[in-house]
Amino acid sequence: MRHFAIVGSGPAGFYTAEALEKAYGEKARIDILDRYPVPYGLIRFGVAPDHQSLKAVSKRYDKVAECAGVDFIGNVTVGRDLSIAELLDLYDAVVLATGAPHDRKLGVPGEELPGVIGSAEFVGWYNGHPEFADLDPFLRGTHAVVVGAGNVALDCARILSKTRAEFEGSDIVGHALDALDSSAIRTVTILGRRGPHQVAMTPKELGELGHLEASVPEVDLTDFPPVEADEPLEPGLRKSVTILRSFAELPHDKPKRMVFDFFAKPLRIEGEGGAERVIVECTELDEKGGARGTGETYEVPASLVITAIGYSTSPIPDVPFEGGKFVNERGCIADRLYAVGWARRGPTGTIGTNRPDGYEVAEQIAATMPAGSAGEREGASGLKRLLESRGVMPTDYDDWRKIEQTEVANARPGSPREKFVRPHEWLGVLGR
Ligand code: NAP
Repeated sequence: MRHFAIVGSGPAGFYTAEALEKAYGEKARIDILDRYPVPYGLIRFGVAPDHQSLKAVSKRYDKVAECAGVDFIGNVTVGRDLSIAELLDLYDAVVLATGAPHDRKLGVPGEELPGVIGSAEFVGWYNGHPEFADLDPFLRGTHAVVVGAGNVALDCARILSKTRAEFEGSDIVGHALDALDSSAIRTVTILGRRGPHQVAMTPKELGELGHLEASVPEVDLTDFPPVEADEPLEPGLRKSVTILRSFAELPHDKPKRMVFDFFAKPLRIEGEGGAERVIVECTELDEKGGARGTGETYEVPASLVITAIGYSTSPIPDVPFEGGKFVNERGCIADRLYAVGWARRGPTGTIGTNRPDGYEVAEQIAATMPAGSAGEREGASGLKRLLESRGVMPTDYDDWRKIEQTEVANARPGSPREKFVRPHEWLGVLGR
């Protein structure tokens, strides 16, 4: 019998578990560890609550979790409760699928002012992430700025712009729904440091913006190259640019605005005791397609600034780490130690992009430890003994389901569930 540990229960972790389960069947035990008592990482805490169709992929992961050889072990933080070396002692292979939960820093003066937050914090707040449940983003001003021209920036801008009715059917947490409902924000400016041809925004996500109940997206057509220049673009990007251009024709007949401001690089954030404005430098494309400042500056009012410029992974003691992810060669970090997903590649790609990662690493593992070959590791029984000796209380599949059932039972009208956001609430449900 082989024992495998996957650290992290988001998409990358579950695709890896699925691949290992297919490769080994009943000849392996696969333990999926997570620091929270409920799984699905990015699906639960990252994907926007009004994108329930994306979250539906978790049904596939449910099937993996129900396999006889797969176990979920929650409430365990690797690197704190036990070391990587200890985990490698207990398991034949360890796969790090810890995602990229931290905001990259913008690195401009004023970033530390109240009112300036990272997208991981904001997204975590409206998605019920326990670390950000008490974030209380500043929604009492009329102007917000979102920095970045990717899909996370769009998520943040859209969530700031929607009405309560538009969250019907979403699983946004109650505290965020109430706060957003009474938000004073009327203008959300999205700052892209390069132009419309360089956006990392996808057509579906852009297309939604033209149909918001209370907000109209705006672009300045002078930011765009001539329309013929769209022709050679990759089809997805061309579609995005076409949608962006179409925003120029929308009537301005709604109370809120979502302004796309391209060639705009934040230089600093200013304000007395809190963010009040972003000082922006105009840019142009340099020879390599990067953003080069022109020296011309202007200010954009903003009492809330959300940076959505990418994420980085949490380092784990004794695991080589560089550039926001674990150092690896095709997913292999060291003997019997692997990384998948954003912890391997950095924070790019869709949820499905994690699937080939997981399968490739599972293949590598199976090549060195063929199914049916004997292993001598202890796996979960040794892990649980070690955790118990340290006063750590792991949770299991039944605990997760109990929490989930209670969340569904507590659902607000129009929402599939009311997520628990703080550890004492989880532990309360489990009677601990
Ligand atoms: P992203 O796609 O990498 O976009 C990051 C944006 O931040 C880019 O526009 C980048 O501009 C900009 N940026 C980086 N550093 C900056 C700086 N110092 N100053 C100003 N701007 C800066 O990252 P993301 O939006 O966090 O998304 C992560 C991944 O998740 C992506 O693959 C995304 O598609 C995916 N995602 C998908 C969905 C969905 O499918 N609905 C939703 C959310 C996220 P440059 O291009 O100039 O570097």
